[in-house]
Amino acid sequence: MSAKLIDSFEFCRQMQQLSGQTAISEMARLSVELADTQGELRWSLAGGTHSSGLPQLKLQVAGEVHLLCQRCLTAYALPIATDTVLVLAHDDAEADANEARLDDDSIDVIVANTALDVLALVEDDALLALPLSPRHDVCPDGAEAAVVKDKKESPFAVLKKLKS
Ligand SMILES: [Zn+2]
Repeated sequence: MSAKLIDSFEFCRQMQQLSGQTAISEMARLSVELADTQGELRWSLAGGTHSSGLPQLKLQVAGEVHLLCQRCLTAYALPIATDTVLVLAHDDAEADANEARLDDDSIDVIVANTALDVLALVEDDALLALPLSPRHDVCPDGAEAAVVKDKKESPFAVLKKLKS
């Protein structure tokens, strides 16, 4: 897959936008989670400034992936439509400080990079949208629907924990 690299601070400062479509088969980490690799993800990334004054990236990813139901072992389609806000920091210490300052679980703070891989970010966002245990709401064979829906922890949060 051809990398799309951006200078993340510049991208925000100049309020740049980037969008595209990427075949799911080009996303190796996502592909291993899926029943097949058909289809593609549409994505858009917009640089700007968060209301706190910090640089932010708005990332939207949309498409449909095919997951294998863990209850009946048949494939089903899951629509993905994310709307993610990422606030930039210069380093880990600043990322921690900004996370505390923003105090908003819906926002992830990431360490900025002069060569941020946009497609890796799109793939991370799609991975985050997957359920921990893929299951039909109601299986075709009539097995009962799961009551509890799993929620995955943000991969960005996981990364930070590993570092600290
Ligand atoms: Zn099922």
